[in-house]
Amino acid sequence: MLQDKEVNAAELERTFIAIKPDGVQRGLIAEIISRFERKGYKLVAIKLVVPSKDFAQKHYHDLKERPFFNGLCNFLSSGPVLAMVWEGEGVIKYGRKLIGATDPQKSEPGTIRGDLAVVVGRNIIHWSDGPETAKDEISLWFEPSELGRDPLPYELFEVTHT
Ligand code: GDP
Ligand code: MG
Repeated sequence: MLQDKEVNAAELERTFIAIKPDGVQRGLIAEIISRFERKGYKLVAIKLVVPSKDFAQKHYHDLKERPFFNGLCNFLSSGPVLAMVWEGEGVIKYGRKLIGATDPQKSEPGTIRGDLAVVVGRNIIHWSDGPETAKDEISLWFEPSELGRDPLPYELFEVTHT
């Protein structure tokens, strides 16, 4: 049980992270999840989905003026995507360190993209770039009922067992 208010508050930080179709197809799910788990972050929700093109366009709406937008949305909707919510202190900013730069050529070895990807259009993983984006993307990809519950208070377990 967490008693410390600071730890509790920090644990509430959540972000959306997805393994794109290339990462799923290449069999990198376990490798990528294990990096976040080993770091100490908590997996709150997970599901495999094939997003429609319309959904992909919503997800990447910030990039709609970019020349690669259409190809990017076609790609995201081309196969299963592993959508996840991860929780933990600093998970949004630190997630970027674990993942690496957008262009795998500029990602350091030791990062997910640095170790496992080669080109920007097939960089295997998506992360939310800030608290607002994280909130929006979590609610775009997940229903509130899919986000799990906090553990029952200890007192409730005691009542159950009397
Ligand atoms: P991210 O937050 O590191 O994923 O990068 P962005 O939010 O800037 O871009 C979203 C995704 O668009 C990236 O992960 C890439 O897959 C793709 N992308 C970004 N820049 C380029 C580019 O210059 N060319 C192509 N083909 N794809 C790009
Ligand atoms: Mg981004």
